[in-house]
Amino acid sequence: MAKDYYDILGVAKGATPDEIKKAYRKLALKYHPDKGENGNAEKFKEVNEAYQVLGSEEKRRQYDQFGHSFEGAGSAGQHYDFSGFNTQGFGGFEDVFDAFFGGQRTARRQSPADIKRGADLEVAIEIPFETAVFGGKQTIHLSKDTVCESCGGTGSTNKKMKACAKCHGTGQIDQVRQTLLGAIRQSRVCSECKGLGEMPEQTCRSCTGAGRTKQPGGVNITIPDGIDDGQTIRVPHEGSAGFRGGKPGDLYVTVHVTPSREYKRKEFDLYKTISIPFTTAVLGGSVKVETLDGKIDLKIPSATQRGETLKARGLGVPKINSTGRGDLYLTIDITVPKRLTLKQRKLLQELDREWKE
Ligand SMILES: [Zn+2]
Ligand SMILES: [Zn+2]
Repeated sequence: MAKDYYDILGVAKGATPDEIKKAYRKLALKYHPDKGENGNAEKFKEVNEAYQVLGSEEKRRQYDQFGHSFEGAGSAGQHYDFSGFNTQGFGGFEDVFDAFFGGQRTARRQSPADIKRGADLEVAIEIPFETAVFGGKQTIHLSKDTVCESCGGTGSTNKKMKACAKCHGTGQIDQVRQTLLGAIRQSRVCSECKGLGEMPEQTCRSCTGAGRTKQPGGVNITIPDGIDDGQTIRVPHEGSAGFRGGKPGDLYVTVHVTPSREYKRKEFDLYKTISIPFTTAVLGGSVKVETLDGKIDLKIPSATQRGETLKARGLGVPKINSTGRGDLYLTIDITVPKRLTLKQRKLLQELDREWKE
């Protein structure tokens, strides 16, 4: 028993064409197989089928009157093939889609190179704060499609190909569909050869003819200096191996930076709080300060107040894809000694009397 088309689109029996269109558009976007894990080809098919009928004034009238019994006669073969979804394969639907989305999804026959290209991969890594500042090397461990060694990536044990028997080497299958509006000729991508028109002469057993197998491995990447939390590094050709010798995809590495306890970062500037003795704050002088570049001597002007900020020029983060570095801002905190020697106490008391006179 087929499901009710109104239920599938989640609209009332008396819904206006506009409501139906809106409901369909929302669901089609939600279940679109291009959406990866969120996509749902089954549901998408269902939604699409429901809209084919309810979206047409005449078909809807017939459906309302006769239900599925009528519809069934004409639509038995009305199933879309989603195996080649990124290609021209879904002809009829593409037109509907185009009407909705301003023709952005213009039907286009994919070139063999496009069909064979491996998928792009995405991974996320966490790197220490200092690595983000100064850059570094990192090995990423991941399991990915790798060129099959048995067949050299061709998918064929003897590395030879033959014309696809199903599509006779054309890469597409023509079919005539009977619809209520008459016969529609459609061509879709051959599911056997994915539109390539050729198949391995002797299918490789290791990779079942795909020319690639999943293998654990490591990818060495260079982290550029100055990278910031949330930024992505593209590593060319380190994605999945191509299908039957196609070009590999790229690897996208999103970087998360472990926050530093000492440093705050804002663009390319660094911020840090340092403590100086109260005598240095009063008299001025020089203090040793730990920076990411090592210890530096920082000049403290006399009468420096708590909360004032001093700048160490050029000791911030290197500017990614550019030259130069940001600055290091040092916010002054003043330490008050917890313990005093007798002599120190005497001297301070003397000073205290002096100030109070
Ligand atoms: Zn193989
Ligand atoms: Zn074929």
